[in-house]
Amino acid sequence: MGEAVEKVERTEAEWRAALTPEQYHVLREKGTERAFTGILTENHETGDYQCAGCGAVLFMSGAKFDSGCGWPSFMLPADSKAVVEHEDRSFGMRRIEVTCARCGGHLGHVFPDGPRPTGLRYCINSASLTFERAE
Ligand code: FE
Repeated sequence: MGEAVEKVERTEAEWRAALTPEQYHVLREKGTERAFTGILTENHETGDYQCAGCGAVLFMSGAKFDSGCGWPSFMLPADSKAVVEHEDRSFGMRRIEVTCARCGGHLGHVFPDGPRPTGLRYCINSASLTFERAE
């Protein structure tokens, strides 16, 4: 088993200074970018998807798939400890929210309608991610 994830904590003013308005809205206010507007939805390059808040590696390109839902979609996280899942009952729905284990930033939700073998679809806002292409 790995060690506990080291937390990144910042004040809201520090997050506002560090993030773009869209990143701040998604990561710190649990916002959702409009479907099909995120720059990483159609990205097919090989590399890592990192948290836009703290740089933690959250998803790998090999787990990305074309869900057609309008947001970057992954079958599983880069590491089971990289993300935390929480029940979310907002907007009259019952969903599972996904946050960054290191900084607590909101990433998106996970749904049980993904492809095999996991059957999961991590539906993640582009604004909460940065992409680092593999060399
Ligand atoms: Fe983070």
